[in-house]
Amino acid sequence: MTTLAAAEAQIAARDAEIGAFLHVETLRGSTDGPLAGLPIAVKDNIAVAGQPMTAGSRILRGYVPVRHATVVDRLLAAGAVLVGKTNLDEFGMGSSTELSAFKPTRNPLDVTRVPGGSSGGSAAAVAAGMAWASLGTDTGGSIRQPAAFCGLAGLKPTYGRVSRSGVVAYASSLDQVGPLAKTVREVAQVYAVIAGHDPHDSTSADQPVSAVAWRDDLAGLRIGVAREHLDAAEGLDPDVQARMHDVLRALQDRGAILVPVSLPHTRHGIAAYYLVATAEASANLSRYDGLRYGQRAENPQTLEALYTQSRAQSLGQEVQRRILLGTFALSAGYQDAFYQKACRVRRKIADDFHAAWQTCDLLLSPTSPVPPWPLGQMTDDPLAMYLMDAFTVGPSLAGLPALSVPVGVDRQQLPIGAQLVGRPFDEATILAVGDVVQRAFATGAA
Ligand code: GLN
Repeated sequence: MTTLAAAEAQIAARDAEIGAFLHVETLRGSTDGPLAGLPIAVKDNIAVAGQPMTAGSRILRGYVPVRHATVVDRLLAAGAVLVGKTNLDEFGMGSSTELSAFKPTRNPLDVTRVPGGSSGGSAAAVAAGMAWASLGTDTGGSIRQPAAFCGLAGLKPTYGRVSRSGVVAYASSLDQVGPLAKTVREVAQVYAVIAGHDPHDSTSADQPVSAVAWRDDLAGLRIGVAREHLDAAEGLDPDVQARMHDVLRALQDRGAILVPVSLPHTRHGIAAYYLVATAEASANLSRYDGLRYGQRAENPQTLEALYTQSRAQSLGQEVQRRILLGTFALSAGYQDAFYQKACRVRRKIADDFHAAWQTCDLLLSPTSPVPPWPLGQMTDDPLAMYLMDAFTVGPSLAGLPALSVPVGVDRQQLPIGAQLVGRPFDEATILAVGDVVQRAFATGAA
């Protein structure tokens, strides 16, 4: 287990190369509690009072929050020791952590490759032993995919399960905070601390958080497998596909029943997600004017020019692309054709999952269609990068809990993750099954 001393030693030894942290500063919580003394890293779009928060963007440079995010309060009350703020794609927009305004993060398991994103710093910190666990945020896959790329477990809770108070908004109807750690059991430990109702977040759900009943056999459990997420999926790496079949066999050996299901609107998921997410982002990001922090444009001729020049100078290309796309999708005359249509598709995707729950208890798919790719491979092709989110955006649009579990490595020794998707607020089932899956495929990282 990673102790504070070990974490600090690893940060000193490896972070110059890995680039997991944007800010290193120890903050001790309560002296006892379920996480007493455990070093935890926090994604830099989650507020830690008194420590700079950038969300990976130059437009937040110099901003220091005055209060903790609710999740940070809860970690500290549970005894955790915070070790620093981790790198991310600017505002969470990306799948590789190369789109941070400050630096890319490298994958500690192979430094020529990306750690995934946007919570790539949080994943790399844990994979390199620079933290015992970390917090990420997930809008369309940003906890699950970096967990998969770094050989970790990572949970995106049900929408509303974890407070978003003190978290920088990307797409408010999708954003969730969740933990990454080497094992599913450690993820569950952190989850138990951060989950639950918060009066400071009006979208936080007032639903009981049930304890996980850990199990060894899966007798009678029905595991849904959607052809659209496995054998009929486009662009799926053959090693990833083969490993998913190994996982399904291992689950069957432990008594689970495999149920074929269909999620017919899967192929529209990326389009719907990138319209809904960018539309919401265009509204959420309109608050950044570059005046009180960030970079103020020099010699603007008008107030309007001050705003537009400051924003144009301080926001990265991908963020600007998304603001343009989202503003267009919401604009008069186009709203019906784009934003409203995407909302209707979102409803159909949610209905597909709802229909699947009639015959199964959870769903299994790959987390990412491919293993971690070399740095730079996709930075010139945004659409190619968007397509990497094929399996993670569906559960996000439907608001469902989803867990990525490490299931070993491919022929090139690159990690593979399996995604378990659960019914609303049924994190307990996917955690219990994820623990069985992880133990069946235990690897070096675990
Ligand atoms: N890759 C997706 C995006 O860029 C998801 C990111 C996230 O979950 N924050 O929007």
